[in-house]
Amino acid sequence: MDSLRLLTRGSGFKVAPNSTPRSQERPSSGLAESHSRETSPSGKKRKRAEYEADSNASDKTLSQDEIRRIQKLHKIKITDLRALRNEAEHESRKVQKEASRLYPQPLQTFSTLRNTRTNHALLANLAEQAYREPTEVQLATIPLLMPGDGTEPNLLTVAPTGSGKTLAFLIPLIDKVSKAHQAEDHLTSQRRVGAIILAPTKELVAQIVNEGRKLTEHTGVRITAFKKGMKLHEDIATAEHGDSASEAEDTVKRPLVRADILVSTPLSLLNAITLSSSSTPLHLRHVHHLILDEADVLLDPLFRDQTLSIWSACTNPALRTSLWSATIGSNIEELALSTITARESTLKIQPTSRPPLLRCIIGLKDTSLPNITHKLIYASTEAGKLTGLRQLIRPPPSNTNTNPASSKPQSKQPPPLLRPPFLIFTQTIPRATALHSELQYDIPPSTSPSTHPDSNVPRIALLHSSLTTPQRTAIMHNVRAGKIWILITTDLLSRGIDFRGVNGVVNYDIPTTSASYVHRAGRTGRAGRNGGVCVTFYTREDVRYLRPIANVIGKSRGDAESASASGLPPWLLDALPVLTKQAKKDLRERGVDVRRAVKESDDKKERRRKGRNAIGTKTGYEKKLENRRRGMVEGSRRRKAREQHGQQSNDGVDGGEGDSGSGSGGEDDFAGFD
Ligand code: ADP
Ligand code: MG
Repeated sequence: MDSLRLLTRGSGFKVAPNSTPRSQERPSSGLAESHSRETSPSGKKRKRAEYEADSNASDKTLSQDEIRRIQKLHKIKITDLRALRNEAEHESRKVQKEASRLYPQPLQTFSTLRNTRTNHALLANLAEQAYREPTEVQLATIPLLMPGDGTEPNLLTVAPTGSGKTLAFLIPLIDKVSKAHQAEDHLTSQRRVGAIILAPTKELVAQIVNEGRKLTEHTGVRITAFKKGMKLHEDIATAEHGDSASEAEDTVKRPLVRADILVSTPLSLLNAITLSSSSTPLHLRHVHHLILDEADVLLDPLFRDQTLSIWSACTNPALRTSLWSATIGSNIEELALSTITARESTLKIQPTSRPPLLRCIIGLKDTSLPNITHKLIYASTEAGKLTGLRQLIRPPPSNTNTNPASSKPQSKQPPPLLRPPFLIFTQTIPRATALHSELQYDIPPSTSPSTHPDSNVPRIALLHSSLTTPQRTAIMHNVRAGKIWILITTDLLSRGIDFRGVNGVVNYDIPTTSASYVHRAGRTGRAGRNGGVCVTFYTREDVRYLRPIANVIGKSRGDAESASASGLPPWLLDALPVLTKQAKKDLRERGVDVRRAVKESDDKKERRRKGRNAIGTKTGYEKKLENRRRGMVEGSRRRKAREQHGQQSNDGVDGGEGDSGSGSGGEDDFAGFD
């Protein structure tokens, strides 16, 4: 039966049968060990007592050999980066690497935290959330970040998408902030921001705050999202900034953030601590913890200056910084390390009192999850992609044995490749918008009676950075509530977003970097769930850009055949060109050329080329008619404007050609992330 029809019957979202928590696997290894949010046989969440009864074995201290075995099993590598860099030059690279490896005690179960005087309410909240076993990244990094002896390091963590990095940084952070409260005997009125978490999008900020709120209940710790117009400290305008009296006054009037942990996008926060365009950011000297989630994006040229400005505004010598992502390239690692070292020199922190500088890698770097099925589909042209996508959304009925009079039993129809809910990624906002208007009527809003409260929510929706914040929030809410099944979006949602139960990802337009492929694909198969599919359409134009994607797919299964199993024949794989550095840079910064939004500076030929690659089912003749009609309307509009304004407004008439359609600002969502 048509999967869409099946879904429309119910009121809300249903989890796919193979995504029940019990079948979850450890995200980076693909091993079928349960670390899931378990439910009891009755289907209810397990209660704390059950966990406590469960957890006795893993409290003992492990020997180095045992730790090595655990690290090997879970593909965990912890490296002391200072040791790695400072080893004597005569030593071979291999010896150097081995000497810098660390084997700290892993966190085998959350209940072990009880022995480390972790905040009781935090532990109760964890139990309430029914997180039973730590995931690999939590197992490896929580003990590093909660050392108990004050030797907390600066940390760089690379762990797969959906492997639980949020909890890995939130648990230690909440515990430390609550301990700082106890030590300082804080009064609520004196609450000041002691920790900052930066994330590249508003959606991710909201998600982190949401996770944080569940964990901070009754802990005395408060976490909040930074909103435009807030100010950070009481003293910020008066004590530290004397530039302009009116600016200072304005700042004093703004509501004060009364939270310990502040989560924000870089630009909003930077705006709040930089009172005028000429001034340098105000000091955030009370901040002891800085966390960069999706650190490689935050240190990418687009956000780099903003992130680094905030980082350098955190002038407390005791600041600890941690960086988290599924993909951190060597250039980003280099930048992070040089920033940390430069900061220590500027703040005159003696080498002997500098904190350790560690790197933790889980699994293989820059690979996609092993539990996702990858499919590359050749569609030749843009029109072919639309047809291909429609077939995925509504697969044609099997034409084998359609004769009802036949006595032969009908052969079983293969299951559809994609089951809702799924996400569709395009290169730009105009393309996402065009695809949405093409597909919006392909799925009936609901087949349930119109009195049903969900029947007005369209099953297919569009989300990008040009929408207003309330619109974006409502769409995110409806996806999470299972009311929206297909979400068309841009790279805005490719990072960090955790929609539980997303069955698939469609790269309608190819991602422009291997990291982007890893992150888009990583919206499915989260927390070890099986059955996730990542479908990538490619046209003639894209063939030359396929190699990085094929490499990611090949590495993710660890075998050479997986790329061909995903739909790339070996002969094509061998023939794929290697991109030059410049071509890679162009692709990363501008996307595939013919899919870029039309600009005013484009000449006629360029416009026609882009027009041919626009999304839509209209024939060339229909487009021509439409253009002519639009031209006539434009012409008459201009004539009227000229008549109204007379001679003097000659230069006031819009020089645009009228159908550029998109404008250049925010055309792709890296430009409009915030
Ligand atoms: P990442 O940041 O690594 O991409 P998230 O932190 O968003 O991943 O977590 C992905 C999903 O895994 C979330 O739905 C989260 O609730 C779940 N999760 C996190 N930790 C655990 C755990 N220890 N056991 C089970 N599920 C977990
Ligand atoms: Mg994350």
